[in-house]
Amino acid sequence: MSIFDLSGRVAVVTGGNGGIGLGIAQALAAAGCNVSIWGRNAEKNKNAAASMAGSPGKVDSRICDVSDAASVKAAMAATLGHFGRVDGCFANAGIGGGGRHAFIDRTEEQWRTMFATNLDGVFHVFQAAARHMTERATAGDGFGRLVATSSLASLFGTARNEHYAATKAAINALVRAVAVELARHGVTANAILPGWIKSDMTAGVLANEKFVGAVMPRIPMRRFGEPTDFGGIAVYLMSKASSYHTADCFVIDGGYTAF
Ligand code: NDP
Repeated sequence: MSIFDLSGRVAVVTGGNGGIGLGIAQALAAAGCNVSIWGRNAEKNKNAAASMAGSPGKVDSRICDVSDAASVKAAMAATLGHFGRVDGCFANAGIGGGGRHAFIDRTEEQWRTMFATNLDGVFHVFQAAARHMTERATAGDGFGRLVATSSLASLFGTARNEHYAATKAAINALVRAVAVELARHGVTANAILPGWIKSDMTAGVLANEKFVGAVMPRIPMRRFGEPTDFGGIAVYLMSKASSYHTADCFVIDGGYTAF
């Protein structure tokens, strides 16, 4: 059996109904993993699940707002009720910087909304999953995978986007701390840092010719990323092959940061 065979495993993918999360969910299901996609929009959830019909892994979906601890608790209970276990959790749901206001004009509400979704969301989802994974480890079944979608914005200064950048840098720190704490339970924690990826979040900016003209020459691969570019890393992180790989930040950006 391949070390990348995920048969019998169960993964949660938040924001799994579109963009990068859907790319992750599809690759996991294709590798035999049972997947529960969590999002706020029932129609998007339904369409995403339909796109995976016929995959070796079974697909379930749950309505969940990751900024709401009670909603995450309910989605986790429902997923555990449905699949009986959760082996991996991809905390991928997130919102972008929106109108790109100047820092001095940033409103308290914009700041709080960003943190509630992008950072509190990871906290809620990781904690719910880690409670289940550590309980299982105590019962002798120590295996768990926590993966958060961060961003290159966590590494660079991105003007008019400081609230987004701050949530993503905090995610990197959260991941490292959790990785150290949970290693003894067989639970790994890692972050994925995407570069410029085509999705609903970036549709506006990637349609701007001036922006594309400025950024494309800085991407050695000479293309923007696709959600499917995240399938390989997701399968690797979910598999036994990554058992000794924890507390890392995986940059997937077509070489942008090296240039
Ligand atoms: P999309 O806008 O395509 O997808 C965002 C997903 O998050 C949707 O499935 C959405 O589902 C879900 N979501 C948003 N808010 C919530 C919430 N409160 N509760 C539950 N689900 C929520 O964006 P991407 O695929 O591009 O983004 C995915 C992740 O990748 C984000 O964390 C983003 O910050 C990160 N990223 C993206 C980059 C890019 O270039 N695209 C670059 C760097 C990082 P629903 O509408 O149903 O709520």
